[in-house]
Amino acid sequence: MAPKDAKTVKTKYIYTFGDGNAEGNAQMKNLLGGKGANLCEMNRLGVPVPPGFVITTEACTRYTEKGREDLMEAIREEMEQGIAHLEQIMGTRFGDRENPLLISVRSGARVSMPGMMDTVLNLGLNDDAVEGLSQRSGESRFAWDAYRRFVQMYGDVVMGLKPESKEDEDPFEVLIDEMKKKRGVANDNQLTTSDLKKLVLQFKELILQRTGEEFPTDPWEQLQGAVSAVFESWNNERAQVYRSLNGIPEHWGTAVNVQAMVYGNLNDNSATGVAFTRDAGTGEDLFNGEFLVNAQGEDVVAGIRTPQQITLEGSRRWAELAKITEEVRREKYPSLEEIMPEVYRELAAIETRLENHYADMQDLEFTIQDGKLWILQTRNGKRTGAAMVKIAVDMLNQGMIDEKTAVLRVDPHRLDELLHPVFDPTAIKSANVIAKGLPASPGAATGQVVFFADDAESWAENNKPTILVRMETSPEDLRGMSVAKGILTARGGMTSHAAVVARGMGKCCVSGAGAIHVDYRARTMTVDGQTFREGDWISLNGSTGEVYEGRIITQEPALSGDFGKLMKLADKYTRLEVRTNADTPEDAATALRFGARGIGLCRTEHMFFEGERIIPMREMILAADETGRRTALDKLLVFQREDFRGLFETMHDLPVTIRLLDPPLHEFIPHDEAGQREIADDMGVSLEVIKDKIEELKEANPMMGHRGCRLGITYPEITEMQVRAIIEAALDVKMKGIRVIPEIMVPLVSKVKEFEAQKNLIEATAETIFAERNERVEYQIGTMVETPRAAMLADYISPNAHFFSFGTNDLTQMTFGYSRDDASKFLPIYLKQGLLDHDPFEEIDQYGVGGLVQIAVERGRKGNPNLSLGLCGEHGGNPASVDFCHRVGLDYVSCSPYRVPIARLAAAQASLKNEK
Ligand code: PEP
Ligand code: MG
Repeated sequence: MAPKDAKTVKTKYIYTFGDGNAEGNAQMKNLLGGKGANLCEMNRLGVPVPPGFVITTEACTRYTEKGREDLMEAIREEMEQGIAHLEQIMGTRFGDRENPLLISVRSGARVSMPGMMDTVLNLGLNDDAVEGLSQRSGESRFAWDAYRRFVQMYGDVVMGLKPESKEDEDPFEVLIDEMKKKRGVANDNQLTTSDLKKLVLQFKELILQRTGEEFPTDPWEQLQGAVSAVFESWNNERAQVYRSLNGIPEHWGTAVNVQAMVYGNLNDNSATGVAFTRDAGTGEDLFNGEFLVNAQGEDVVAGIRTPQQITLEGSRRWAELAKITEEVRREKYPSLEEIMPEVYRELAAIETRLENHYADMQDLEFTIQDGKLWILQTRNGKRTGAAMVKIAVDMLNQGMIDEKTAVLRVDPHRLDELLHPVFDPTAIKSANVIAKGLPASPGAATGQVVFFADDAESWAENNKPTILVRMETSPEDLRGMSVAKGILTARGGMTSHAAVVARGMGKCCVSGAGAIHVDYRARTMTVDGQTFREGDWISLNGSTGEVYEGRIITQEPALSGDFGKLMKLADKYTRLEVRTNADTPEDAATALRFGARGIGLCRTEHMFFEGERIIPMREMILAADETGRRTALDKLLVFQREDFRGLFETMHDLPVTIRLLDPPLHEFIPHDEAGQREIADDMGVSLEVIKDKIEELKEANPMMGHRGCRLGITYPEITEMQVRAIIEAALDVKMKGIRVIPEIMVPLVSKVKEFEAQKNLIEATAETIFAERNERVEYQIGTMVETPRAAMLADYISPNAHFFSFGTNDLTQMTFGYSRDDASKFLPIYLKQGLLDHDPFEEIDQYGVGGLVQIAVERGRKGNPNLSLGLCGEHGGNPASVDFCHRVGLDYVSCSPYRVPIARLAAAQASLKNEK
């Protein structure tokens, strides 16, 4: 029980800012959200920010747990004080007929989730306040337009008026379109005050009709509704999808930012825009961005009007790309630098100050109200993988950050984009450009046209590559965008939803290709009289904005000098080495280019699938006895020896780990009768003999069946052949002066005796060859640890082993009891229901599977302090798993060639993070 005199300490739910003061700061992101924390910080820096207050993420958690009524009561007093604070700074009153305070209510989580949650602007307007706004601003059209926007937004966000089906338009937009038709005008801006008054009435009627509720006139009720809607939007479907795609935990919650409204659409001396302190696409150190005169923030993002560029330089570059003459540019699309030079200078000074303060590239939102500049938001800007690398290296060169920070700045997953395909230069020569849009997110993509996000999803399930074509995208399209190969929109600038989201995903995107007309009902897209239907192939170049007809072959990109510099830096701070999983000299060469320090896994079975080799392989499997098997193995030996020579020569004196045959044999057998007849003819036996043998080989559960070292134990001649091929190849390359130390790896061991039996056989075979050749070569013998039993008995296995390599694919399969082949039936449902946080075949399950790894590391080293330890499951290229491998003290991870840079950077970050 609490002592009698203990006072209950009331939780503080609201933090105010304004007029150069703030209760919060940039360090308080967890409590105030990224946006709220930065608004406070900017106030402290003296940047002009409209005053406001932040309702904390803790309030969101309370809202989710205890509901609306409870929270509203808990924050009532603080909210009243918050509004009073705004009234005092602005000299206005909430809901006043003379001089009303108008506010915006926006979400703001710890990390930015662009467009995922809800916003309400112009809150505080009602039939009285609109008169006040009208008189104060002297612009009655402006006031009624603000009211019209407010009712529309509130009706959508808070009262839930959405289109009834995906083919339907927004019900409010339908009314606006009808009004424009009636008036014979094309643009919203041409509607008169009296039109807008009528629209407000129509909107309210529509709301009443559809929801049975009156539009609220009391500003306090409006405020409570908007705050609740923002908290509710934390759990809307698109926010949930975004969170699961970006690994954002559900319990974080969002903060709510309430701010005094400033108007970029007050008059022609007003504007609104978005600016980046560096180029988010290329990383170039160039202040850039877009704005619209006499417009509100959402107009820039919606991309319905063509935005102008902030700087003169940017404007000129933009005009050149859009093939617009200097004259037309100056007249129709002048830069902010040209039309409002003083405001521009103030903005440019602020961008430099903010970038220096945060020592990172900033993404700013600003509004100019009647010539006065206001900064509405600053945050670390989203950027492409290439920009991420360039900005980190440039900032290091400019002395803004140190080496370690540069290494930590780049998200390893995003390196993938730099390694992404570009169009084959020959194929592109004959390709036909059908349209040109903005280069919104770089890379090349080719796929079949779909018009709806859910189609992109279902086509992806059937392995069909798609290009999602939309007039413009909205956050509802997120899931479809994430699975499409590329995104093409008819509308929208570089800061439109499609562009921002695609860049965030590292997905190729062309936006604002105005020549394209989309007919959703007919599922067609028309360009210059040419019609493309759903399923037709098109290709996109997200780096130039070009849209091509048909399917164009793509190829791998060249890597920049900055990339090399970053990788070098990464290696400087890394302890964990990165090897590659490669089965051919070509793959090995690619991995070497990406900086692999050896081969951690060569899956020899992959070598048997190629070309003619499958024939002797099948003969070996289907042979009636050992003699038959040996005859076939002799043929395979020739291929294998050649393969290993190639690998050793490519890798030179780096380590090469070769695994003995692992998979169940029936994987190599033809399943159709024609194939079976062919093999029968080849082997000179009847079809029946082959069919009987295949029947004999069938297993109910092959993953747990006759595979791994069980093959080498039951058919020792297979191990003998493979060891012969390895040792003879090593002796051959030794003659050429290559110092190779092959590492021979025994798969799927669970008994100590299994390993010992194979080891004895390997040694005996090697000795025979040394005697034959009268020459020796150094080699090592180790084992995969991929069954739980091998992990538990690691101290008994390790005294005889040079190395362990954790096969975490099988170890995950066997620890969870999830079949690698069948898990896709239930894993997606488990992930959706939150039973699993992530796919354990992608990111290692640190406590379960990882627990076994940890035990095996400790016990393995206890049995043999010189034991070398690696991991070669798919997890070797997954940053979170690489971090785990570092922490448990492995010596290396091994992953597919294209993931080598990702693993190298992740390994360096693991060293740096764990050093802190
Ligand atoms: C593993 O099991 O993790 C492994 C690398 O082997 P494979 O995927 O070939 O079974
Ligand atoms: Mg395995």
